[in-house]
Amino acid sequence: MKGEFVNRWFRRQRPRAIAGRGAAWGARGAAAATIAARLTFENVARRYGQTYALRDISLDIAPGEIVCLLGPSGCGKTTLLRIAAGIEKPSAGRVLINGQEVAGPNRFVPPEARNVGLMFQDFALFPHLTILDNVAFGLKGIPKPEAEQAAMAALARVGLGAQAREYPHILSGGEQQRVALARAIAPRPSVLMMDEPFSGLDVQLREFMQDQTLTILREMRATSIIVTHNPEEAMRLGDRIAVMRGGRIVQVGPSEALYRRPRDLFVARFFSEVNEIHTTPREIAALFPEAAPALDGLASEAPIVFCVRERGVRLKATDEGLAGRVLEVRFLGDQAVIEVAVAGLEAPLRARVGDGDAPKRGTEVGVTLDPGAVLVFPQSEG
Ligand code: ATP
Repeated sequence: MKGEFVNRWFRRQRPRAIAGRGAAWGARGAAAATIAARLTFENVARRYGQTYALRDISLDIAPGEIVCLLGPSGCGKTTLLRIAAGIEKPSAGRVLINGQEVAGPNRFVPPEARNVGLMFQDFALFPHLTILDNVAFGLKGIPKPEAEQAAMAALARVGLGAQAREYPHILSGGEQQRVALARAIAPRPSVLMMDEPFSGLDVQLREFMQDQTLTILREMRATSIIVTHNPEEAMRLGDRIAVMRGGRIVQVGPSEALYRRPRDLFVARFFSEVNEIHTTPREIAALFPEAAPALDGLASEAPIVFCVRERGVRLKATDEGLAGRVLEVRFLGDQAVIEVAVAGLEAPLRARVGDGDAPKRGTEVGVTLDPGAVLVFPQSEG
């Protein structure tokens, strides 16, 4: 709540566009390394009254690993982060840091004794403290000169050493994010947790911040958990991604594995733009013989959701594949999405092509599928 207040206060003070992309960051390799910890969730559940925010979460994060928690609003990402940080207690299960129970039936270690760092979505800087004091805020328990030195080093690493004695209201949104990052890394946490750290930034700045932050996380070698609802961000940052839904982890793995072998339709939709056809193997084999390998072993009348990635829909000359007609062309910069009515299919297919390959609306085409871009799920899923 306080964070939201501070954030609104900043927006009032600084209505101008978010700046900071070009500003120089500190020297690469200058972030102080931490002693990374292993973080383990064992069958963690969290219940609020009759509602389960988390159910049976088990996840083991190796020292120095970056794991992104990805899922739609309300799936439990923030709750899991808060439980790891010690701000919330699990209703069941255990949390371990380096094999030692920090939350569970036998023990509860408070946040300040866990050596974890937290960075919030809204940066939550204190307007009445200097930038240096904001960063030193998390360095309680060590002598002031040392705290200031560590805070200065962290600020220098994010390229804001020169602004240390100023107050946060002079900063752009991107610079506030950098201060929040400096504050999170200054105590050299063994586990760094970030809750939607880039969601308040505009699109161009976001990518730049993600890259810079990733460089710093690698330098520090801290175990990191990053909460996001943005699949692209998760793919860019995470060594592994844990996809969450309804309080559970649906699938966890490196981004490539999740993209290539999604466990269900829900995960597939997260990582790729797919066409979905509710059908049977018999119907699909008749329309698209090239997709037959993906249907191997399925009963011919089994109800399936046949998915093909947009980039896997091929538009050819009319003497190849199924007859189609271009209904719509949406220009997306270096790509175009083409909507094609296809003989034998109720709904149009969407094809994604390079911008130079986009046919005109009304063109007659032949439609084939790239067998490597096909996914098949039982209809009960997703
Ligand atoms: P978002 O992306 O919107 O932040 P999230 O995935 O982080 O969502 P959580 O904030 O962890 O989701 O919430 C998970 C579920 O638990 C939601 O249904 C939420 O309403 C519920 N919840 C969270 N905190 C509380 C609370 N203190 N009291 C009651 N219900 C809560």
